[in-house]
Parts: sequence; C-alpha cells; structure tokens
Amino acid sequence: MKTLKIAIQKSGRLNEKSVELLKNCGLNFENYKSSLISPVSNFPLEILFLRDDDIPEYVQDGIADLGIVGENVIQETEVEVSYLQKLGFGKCSLKIAVPNNNSITALEQLNGKAIATTYPVILGKYLKEKGISSDIRTISGSVEISPGLGLSDAICDLVSTGGTLKSNGLVPFADVMSSEAVLIGQKGSENEDLVQELIQRIQSVLRAKE
Ligand code: ATP
Ligand code: ZN
Repeated sequence: MKTLKIAIQKSGRLNEKSVELLKNCGLNFENYKSSLISPVSNFPLEILFLRDDDIPEYVQDGIADLGIVGENVIQETEVEVSYLQKLGFGKCSLKIAVPNNNSITALEQLNGKAIATTYPVILGKYLKEKGISSDIRTISGSVEISPGLGLSDAICDLVSTGGTLKSNGLVPFADVMSSEAVLIGQKGSENEDLVQELIQRIQSVLRAKE
C-alpha cells in the first residue's frame, strides 16, 4: 500500500499547532527536533519537517502529497496546489505600514516610494491592482527596521498583534492579504482514498474544537 507524505514546518510559528493537529487526529509519531522525517506507526503516513518556504513546491512537485503552510507562503511562491482545508491557526495579515511621524494618508502617496518586504510577489500584484507604482525592495528579514535605517519609506510585512510594528514606530496603513495555516495537496491528490481519510480526520478534529 502507498505511504503518504505530509510536510509541516520544522520549527517556527506553525510547528507546534501542526504537530498538535496531527496528534489529535490519532496519529502516532515521534517528534524529534533532530529528524527530518518521522514515520507514523498507525497510519500509512510519513511526516516531513521542512522550512515553511519549501513546503508549497514540495507539494506541487509531489515530493510530499500534503502540506501545512500559511496561505501567504503559497501565494508568494505562486505554485499550483489544491487548497483542501483552512486550519484556523497561524492567523495574520500582510500589511503595509508607514512610520508614525509621516504624512502618508492615501495609497496614491506610495507612488515612487520605496517599500521593503519579504513578499515582493504579493505586494507587486496588490500595487498593480491599485494602479500604484512603488519601488519594491526585497529583503530577507527584519523588514520593520528598514524605514528607521533610511532604507525604505514604508514596509509590507506580516502582522498578528501589531506589537512589532508599534515598537518600531510604525503604523499599519493598508491590508494586503489575510492569512492562516491551510492544508494543501498536490493537484488531484484529493481524489485518493488515503488523502480523503486524513482530510476527514482533520475536519472532525476542527469540528470538535468549534
Ligand atoms: P522557516 O524557518 O520555516 O522559514 P519563518 O521564519 O519563515 O520559518 P515563521 O515566522 O515561523 O516563519 O512564520 C510561519 C508562518 O506563520 C508565516 O508564514 C505566517 O503564515 C504565520 N504567522 C502568523 N503570525 C505571524 C506573525 N506575526 N509574523 C509572521 N508570521 C506569522
Ligand atoms: Zn520561512
């Protein structure tokens, strides 16, 4: 019989909730921080622990049949996968924020301005839709300090409580997208019996939480 593979984040904001969800589905597996792959003893499934950025492509390419990842990462990597189930955790929004001492009050004022982000694809589409042309500066982290360093006029970053923005003297200005963790599958995988069974277990765990 086929063994399914599901990719989840190895460490970070989605790891604990992803592991908890799978355990609540009655799946037995060891959760060693050192291992990249963990077999499930009571279901034909292996768990792959990966960086979240790699999960959409692994699923698209069928290296993993399923994955748990933030919608933001899926949109940014522009992969073709099936959205199987929203999971209700990892909620956050991608927002444009500006220094709290500046005079930007309308989106048009971002024309010609530099916006630092780790989400150039999503931000680029959003600005295009709004007819705004800004200078998107792609950086790989610590986006929120870039206005203070004079590297950008605004930022576009993930926000949950807003605490990080506030402590860096930034105020949210526009909502680009809202996101939560979702279960994704390789296109067509939802037709497989084993995948269906896993989706149903996940859905009943989610229903029990309501
Ligand atoms: P990795 O090492 O796997 O690449 P990472 O640093 O890219 O991890 P995390 O910071 O752990 O990622 O965030 C994982 C996901 O958690 C995000 O892609 C997003 O969907 C979600 N998330 C929820 N709240 C926040 C937040 N306040 N800031 C960033 N991400 C958040
Ligand atoms: Zn990442």
